Amino acid sequence: MTDAIRHTRLLIIGSGPAGYTAGVYASRAMLNPILVQGIQPGGQLTITTDVENWPGDASVMGPDLMVRMEHHAKEMGTEIISDHIMSLDLSVRPFRAVGDSGTTYTADAVILATGAQAKWLGLPSEEHFKGFGVSACATCDGFFYRGQEIVVVGGGNTAVEEALFLTNFASKVTLIHRRDSLRAEKIMQDRLFKNPKVAVLWNHEIDAVIGGDNPRGVEGVRAKHVETGEITEVPCKGFFVAIGHAPATELVKDQLELHNGGYVKVEPGTTRTSIPGVFAAGDLTDHVYRQAVTSAGMGCMAALDAEKWLAEHEADQTAAAAE
Ligand code: FAD
Ligand code: NAP
Repeated sequence: MTDAIRHTRLLIIGSGPAGYTAGVYASRAMLNPILVQGIQPGGQLTITTDVENWPGDASVMGPDLMVRMEHHAKEMGTEIISDHIMSLDLSVRPFRAVGDSGTTYTADAVILATGAQAKWLGLPSEEHFKGFGVSACATCDGFFYRGQEIVVVGGGNTAVEEALFLTNFASKVTLIHRRDSLRAEKIMQDRLFKNPKVAVLWNHEIDAVIGGDNPRGVEGVRAKHVETGEITEVPCKGFFVAIGHAPATELVKDQLELHNGGYVKVEPGTTRTSIPGVFAAGDLTDHVYRQAVTSAGMGCMAALDAEKWLAEHEADQTAAAAE
């Protein structure tokens, strides 16, 4: 633990595509930014494998891409700090953030790029078996289920990608979705339907995860037909929840205006939040696109918005001091 106080003109919170891109642009604008990485350095792309829609790379491993982004930001001059912000006070100037390390960061401007976190179904049985067969990360935990049956729930890109990845280990993967069509990209759907190890159970919701306690482990899931209520039990040793992500607004939810179920609200076409000098970029503010490339684009916008705001703000302060 250190009790240091670090002041910076610009504090960037988060190290996904939005945070690192903001770091690149802010460094080139000579703002000497500090970027705090959080508990997931590199963000969500570090828990996936192939990324096939990052322009310039037909295929790149997510973790490799994020290491490259980190190097890029560092090389341009961003000071990258391994710490997690546990509180942020936006009611004082300079803004005040306190890290797990004990360091207090004070900043004239802040870019929030804390991204999103996996959503859970909210079932007591899901909670009971978390870490004992229930997971939200196939790349982290898929290996444990070699030769076993696996169930994935969800119908978006993440669910399809996780299901396909898990066929590398599992004897069978059942994807359970609450509707009769997927929202994943068509190319991903094609790959899913062609894979002989994959079965899809349509129009079903998960009613409960079932298993034993001696030792604790999953034995299957109980799925309920959304119209008839008919129950189907699907045996599995691993149950992967892939039902989307919620914005990581813990630090600011009582301080900034939010919209669309908790995303940080920004002025349209900008990254300006409801507090001057505070900017938001990436999945934290975007309930529509939620892509690496759009997050990176917003990181760029946030750095440019912050640079402009700081220049105006500092000019105002100088003029006030001269009066
Ligand atoms: P994130 O990547 O979510 O990063 C958030 C960062 O904030 C993390 O570094 C975290 O440590 C940090 N943080 C959070 N709270 C704090 C705090 N209190 N203090 C300090 N730091 C904090 N998109 C694509 O375009 N192509 C793909 O192929 C693709 N594949 C995906 C596969 C999976 C499995 C998932 C989950 C997502 C995928 N996405 C993909 C979506 C993409 O990953 C996100 O859109 C993108 O990562 C969002 O970037 P971000 O910078 O907003 O935040
Ligand atoms: P998503 O697109 O929001 O999809 C979530 C899925 O989970 C939906 O199919 C939804 O069903 C289902 N769902 C939500 N709540 C549920 C519940 N309580 N019970 C059962 N099912 C539930 O989320 P995502 O797949 O994580 O993707 C998030 C973003 O990251 C997207 O923008 C996506 O494009 C991006 N991403 C991209 C890639 C890629 O480009 N390869 C890979 C992964 C993620 P409904 O369909 O009925 O709503």
